Amino acid sequence: MPLSQDAYDAALDHYTRRVLGLGPVRVLGSECGVIPMTDARFARQSAPSVFRIGVAGGATRPATGYTFAAVQRQADAIARLLRAGRRPVPPPAHSVRARAMDAVLLRALATGRVDGADFFHRLFTRVPPARLLRFLDGRTRLHEDLAVGLRTPVLPMLRTAAELPWLPRRPHTRTHPGVRR
Ligand SMILES: Cc1cc2nc3c(=O)[nH]c(=O)nc-3n(C[C@H](O)[C@H](O)[C@H](O)COP(=O)(O)OP(=O)(O)OC[C@H]3O[C@@H](n4cnc5c(N)ncnc54)[C@H](O)[C@@H]3O)c2cc1C
Repeated sequence: MPLSQDAYDAALDHYTRRVLGLGPVRVLGSECGVIPMTDARFARQSAPSVFRIGVAGGATRPATGYTFAAVQRQADAIARLLRAGRRPVPPPAHSVRARAMDAVLLRALATGRVDGADFFHRLFTRVPPARLLRFLDGRTRLHEDLAVGLRTPVLPMLRTAAELPWLPRRPHTRTHPGVRR
């Protein structure tokens, strides 16, 4: 649920002044929006000739908000498919493993087993930046994912991973016959 404008302003003021100790700052621009923090699957086609990319096409990693790089991969894939004379249904934007890890983190946050601020603070202070950025974009290998996983609160994350397959999923409706999810 989004906070009020005053709450965002207060948080930014706290971060720039108290945490970073920047002194007086001038705001040159601002952005706002809501990141879909869900492990639901997004339709990649909504009508016979309508194909979705970006947030609407599931390109946003729900645990991190990273989207830009996946949109570029989706656009590349569409261009290749069109050039090959095939239907341009974009492939899934993120691997099954990346989506599974996101689902675990979302559940851990939702149950309160993991504190979001502490979780990301650990990652950013304990994982080398280049590896972390690739991890956030879903481009790390399995052994790197395991190494990053060791920098998280391991027991709550393992407990959440173990229970996730047994949780019922809420049903979703199809938007068009033959739509690919
Ligand atoms: C505050 C914030 C910061 C972010 N920072 C990053 C970042 O640093 N890196 C990153 O990778 N990602 C970031 N993201 C994720 C970001 O949402 C995407 O990277 C990017 O905006 C996705 O572009 P998009 O075109 O898919 O969706 P959007 O930018 O949401 O564009 C969708 C557009 O479609 C319009 N629209 C919606 N429904 C309809 C309709 N029915 N008919 C017509 N128009 C419609 C909307 O009004 C909107 O203009 C951030 C998100 C937020 C909220």
